[in-house]
Amino acid sequence: MPVLEKLSGVGPPSRTDDQRRRNLSETLRCVVQGSGKISRAAIAARTGLNRSTVGRLADELVGGELIHEVGTAAPTRAGRPARVLAVSPRGPVALGLDVNVDYVAACLVDLAGDIRYEHVIAQDQRGRPMADVLNRVNHLARDALRAVAGNGRALCGTAVAVPGLVDLTGGVLATAPNLGWHDLDVVQALRRQGMPGPIALDNESNYAALSEEELLRDGESFLYVNGQFGVGAGIVIEGRLHRGQHGWSGEIGHTIVVPDGPRCACGRCGCLETYAGHAAILRAVGVSHPASTSLGLRPTVCLIRERAERGDATTIEALRHTGSVIGIVVAGCLNILDVDRVVLGGIYRDLSPWIAPAVGKEVASRLCRVGRPSPVVKVACHGPQAPALGAARSVVRGLVQDPVAWLARATGTHRPGPRRARQRVAGSG
Ligand SMILES: [Zn+2]
Repeated sequence: MPVLEKLSGVGPPSRTDDQRRRNLSETLRCVVQGSGKISRAAIAARTGLNRSTVGRLADELVGGELIHEVGTAAPTRAGRPARVLAVSPRGPVALGLDVNVDYVAACLVDLAGDIRYEHVIAQDQRGRPMADVLNRVNHLARDALRAVAGNGRALCGTAVAVPGLVDLTGGVLATAPNLGWHDLDVVQALRRQGMPGPIALDNESNYAALSEEELLRDGESFLYVNGQFGVGAGIVIEGRLHRGQHGWSGEIGHTIVVPDGPRCACGRCGCLETYAGHAAILRAVGVSHPASTSLGLRPTVCLIRERAERGDATTIEALRHTGSVIGIVVAGCLNILDVDRVVLGGIYRDLSPWIAPAVGKEVASRLCRVGRPSPVVKVACHGPQAPALGAARSVVRGLVQDPVAWLARATGTHRPGPRRARQRVAGSG
């Protein structure tokens, strides 16, 4: 998990605490994944816990307003109506923020991972001081929280996606070459601006990978290749993000393709990004005037897409070649990781009709596999909102994995007890 401050000062857990934490998590996960309604008996059957334990755990989760009772299911064999549980409509929301090169985005999701609010502001961040950019982000966050303040929902945490290397030990952005930012404590800067609650920070491609809810739920392993101004990747192994020793995994964009190739924003030469990043694609399709890059990522990608849809041979060949270079690097990654699925996100999602076949062809021809089908090349489920959405859902996932800290904050104690007042989302932040 990325750096996410503890919700409260709960002491070192005992074995009993650990067991209770796991049981609460399992019970909550059953409700979250229960298609909206699930009985206590069904939870007991699914988890192997006895019914009285499930009843006690469910009461705690109801007390913390994470879940609620919505009525009754079909009568049990004994003829008694079964009480049915669902995610509470007054339950907490999680905020995902995406600080990118030419836009900032916010996304609020509920405990079920459903989007309750999202907003994107186009703004070229290059050359702007971090304080100015984060001030805009803070306003965006306040607007998002104000939008749900009337529903009585509380904020359970915020996760911020950034286009660079994030030091997991301190929530510090070590470097973001395309923004020109280095060694910045983004979490503390946001906190100084009044951002409420726990704040996590991670790379945009990691969070984008966490927007692939279905693959995560099924415990799949995949490589999420994220084309933005730069190129990044999120590595997911058996449903869990693999961040590496320092949190810097997935820097696929700085894999060397040609040792003496063009100079990259990272300072090295011949990186994948210099062949498959946004600027490289623009050059390859013949949209190389400097003013075109100032148009921003999305408008230029729309321009390229329109050309390809018109059948422009130069554009189509350039995209095929881009896909081929990506495929060569991806094949190397898959040979190392031994995973069977590639997800194309960001601008590669928008340009997938022309890029994906070339990626698939290269991967199939370069992979060391014996008697196994070629890896699946899949288009990402979500477009530009993927990093903010994945960031928000990562906060929810953390709460479901460990609801004890939330219950402590919601009820004023980490043990079952009378509900106490808790801080609601305040429009002013
Ligand atoms: Zn590079």
